[in-house]
Amino acid sequence: MLTDKVAIVTGASRGIGRAIALALASQGAKVVASARNAEALAELTAEIKSQDGDALAVVGDVAVEDDANNLVKKTVEAYGQVDVFINNAGITRDGLLLRMKNADWDAVLDTNLKGAFLCTRAVAKVMSKQRSGRIINISSVVGEMGNAGQANYCASKAGLLGLTKSVARELARRNVTVNAITPGFITTEMTEDMTGKAQEAMTDQIPLGRPGSAEDVANAVIFLASEQSAYITGQVLGVNGGMYM
Ligand code: NAP
Repeated sequence: MLTDKVAIVTGASRGIGRAIALALASQGAKVVASARNAEALAELTAEIKSQDGDALAVVGDVAVEDDANNLVKKTVEAYGQVDVFINNAGITRDGLLLRMKNADWDAVLDTNLKGAFLCTRAVAKVMSKQRSGRIINISSVVGEMGNAGQANYCASKAGLLGLTKSVARELARRNVTVNAITPGFITTEMTEDMTGKAQEAMTDQIPLGRPGSAEDVANAVIFLASEQSAYITGQVLGVNGGMYM
């Protein structure tokens, strides 16, 4: 259980982030949910409260430094501490390298990698002072494997693994662990846009024979946020049905 722990989740308005927020709340954590869509966040926090949980919505864009700092500040004001931080916000702007626009490269790197850097730096100050904390970064299996048509996305997700391992080394003496999860092909709005054929081709590559669910990823987050994972840091946990081993 994560009773009375305070957990921040970015990109909590839908998909994997929403499932992570609900799972953390079901374990007794106080959840601070962040994203740009205020309405979706209000709906999520209302759902958590209706199940006797405690939740706060903080609207913001992870790629904006003031928003990242404000997210941590508002959390400390409300709850006095931050025990768990999930860098989950992410976007795709797919296209083949030769046709990739600078704007598509910048948008993906700004949200997926710079956003995680800004949030991690903001929360690391608080966790270092506390001498405890868990930072969990949602990368991707394609950050490990590469994927044609996703040079920007794969670069951002591979970069997140480098950030994870470096910050894990920097914060270990402060009793702050930093780990990454690399989800495989997970059914959410992000993957809904793919054609039926592309979805079938992806599923064919998965030894367990099915796409993952947002809850499959949330289960791994709960483990990495729990006492049971206290001696694990700088690691990459694949949640991919065996797609990459
Ligand atoms: P999704 O359904 O598209 O949700 C993305 C979330 O990120 C939304 O809540 C969105 O909220 C938020 N977000 C996007 N840009 C943001 C920004 N600049 N600032 C703050 N929040 C932002 O995607 P998902 O499938 O749940 O993916 C969640 C994470 O898992 C991503 O990092 C993704 O790369 C990773 N992942 C997904 C899969 C998969 O197969 N689905 C596989 C591997 C890894 P707003 O639009 O309201 O801001």
